Amino acid sequence: MSWLRRLLQPSTKPTEVKKDYSPSVRYAMEAMPTIKFDPSVVTKSVKADLRRNVELLAGVEKKHVKQIYELALRSIVGRRDFHSFCTEMMDMHIEGMTRSKAAEIGRSLANKAGAVIERERRTSLGITHAKWLYANAPCMRDPNHPSAAEVQRDAAHCAANGKRYEISKGLFVDGKWTWPGVDEDCKCVSRSIIPGLEK
Ligand SMILES: [Zn+2]
Repeated sequence: MSWLRRLLQPSTKPTEVKKDYSPSVRYAMEAMPTIKFDPSVVTKSVKADLRRNVELLAGVEKKHVKQIYELALRSIVGRRDFHSFCTEMMDMHIEGMTRSKAAEIGRSLANKAGAVIERERRTSLGITHAKWLYANAPCMRDPNHPSAAEVQRDAAHCAANGKRYEISKGLFVDGKWTWPGVDEDCKCVSRSIIPGLEK
């Protein structure tokens, strides 16, 4: 179990996942339990990265950026559960926003923030390298109906399995430098390479 998983253990009963939600909403709700952890891990660079990722959200107007950023930040430090995140996203009345889209946004922002937190934590422990691990779950939104780009990205992530990379730099995968769990719908994880123990 990774430190992040341990860290993200639900501190209270996870939000009840209702059966009438769509699969993507259920997936996201299950994937993002109520988080309680040391808020000091949410550093300036974690916040800056989160802000940038909110700005990059497709179909979100500038006027909503601050509000979404603040809501996502509260969710990530554990003062809001995921169900409330989706409800508050819906309350913003953003054109075209659906509950399933809100859930996807929440999951994606939390995953990306988690990846930065993990990177910083490893660096602070003197760990400089990690191994990319493909989770044997397709890195696609809907594996039954993947787009051509998703098929290509998934194949690239699968091929990256076991590759060593520098934590500060990431790995060059599918045409860009990235980290496990950072790309949309990526389920890959990583394992620290402990200096002196492993090559
Ligand atoms: Zn992946």
